[in-house]
Amino acid sequence: MLDISLIRSQTKGTSQIIHLNNAGCALPPDSVLQKMQNYLTEESTFGGYETAQKYATEFRKGYDLLAKLINCEPSEIAMCESATVAWDRVFYSLPFQTGDRILTSHVEYGSNFIAYLQIAKRTGAKIEIIPNDKFGQVCIESLEKMLDSKVKLISITHIPTNGGLVNPAEKIGQIAKKHNIWYLLDACQSVGQMPIDVQKIGCDMLTATGRKYMRAPRGTGFLFISKKLKEIEPLSLALGSAFWDSENSYKITENAARFELFEASYAARLGMNEAVEYMLDLGLENIWQRIQDLSGFLRNKLSQIKGVQVHDLGEVKCGIVTFTMQNQAAAQIQNKLSKAGVNINFTTLNSTLTDMKARNLTELLRASVHYYNTESEIEVLCNLLENIDRLS
Ligand SMILES: *Cc1c(COP(=O)(O)O)cnc(C)c1O
Repeated sequence: MLDISLIRSQTKGTSQIIHLNNAGCALPPDSVLQKMQNYLTEESTFGGYETAQKYATEFRKGYDLLAKLINCEPSEIAMCESATVAWDRVFYSLPFQTGDRILTSHVEYGSNFIAYLQIAKRTGAKIEIIPNDKFGQVCIESLEKMLDSKVKLISITHIPTNGGLVNPAEKIGQIAKKHNIWYLLDACQSVGQMPIDVQKIGCDMLTATGRKYMRAPRGTGFLFISKKLKEIEPLSLALGSAFWDSENSYKITENAARFELFEASYAARLGMNEAVEYMLDLGLENIWQRIQDLSGFLRNKLSQIKGVQVHDLGEVKCGIVTFTMQNQAAAQIQNKLSKAGVNINFTTLNSTLTDMKARNLTELLRASVHYYNTESEIEVLCNLLENIDRLS
């Protein structure tokens, strides 16, 4: 059980605003901000290199914490500036040839799909979308039927940016393993929201961002790449990812750190460490239970409002709740709610084009709950939506 009032007292923002845009950026715990502020003060007083040196143990601890969070080895973690940086760095490093097949999901994130298209154009690899099952999630039987020796990569978005769907990552992993196919999981919305165990899931690569459910600062993210994928060389190298040892040679950095660069925001990394410690203390099972309870409550309330339609798919549903309101543009609703002190977001066609087109949607309102939200905050949102016509 989580002590919600204690948690809220440790997050200044919860007394200022009703924040239901956690799939965009969650509010960090105050201790995260504190760590960063202290670090920035020291850095600007005593020097960036010197302060980093002083905190070297803390920075090393960051790998242990993330490894604990997703059940891998610290050497399988690369710190990155965002999920996109992590994802791009590893995806673009995979060797594709003409005729290779990349299997992906309907709900793929726009950035990922743009990268598939570019790689397809460059290499002649083919992108294929795995059909959905009756729940609207990746269909395991269809996936298995699609497999042949040309399938080079299964690349899936675990939880999409535009809905409550949770793709069956573990079942996909079992198939990838059985057929010995690389499996890349975009876990941007799932890390921090639910327990993630890369051994159970069976993915070879996983990427996530700090700013969303992890409650870490913006400008943080990480890559997990299994030690079994030693042969994958980063597409680009620099100091940090490689060591310059003579006029005509270099050595690639060992382990996942080969995907890192020299420069980073050290304050942000320290903030991420704190965010991970904080969530590990609360327990991911507790966090996940609370998020499912709150989002279930919200979906239920929304479905009782006239003119509101909830659109979330999937057998298991997460904290992202998406809906439309009859005859109302999403931007206008968001704006009205914002004036009333409630943050929600909306998502448009281009973020998840294949899914939105298939469902004949152009935009969706998105209220994403975190464990620190409350039933009464949800009631405030629903009351406002009921009276939306009267709001300016
Ligand atoms: C937000 C998001 C990303 C990108 O995260 P960044 O922090 O912007 O790099 C990738 N995939 C999914 C599914 C997302 O929701």
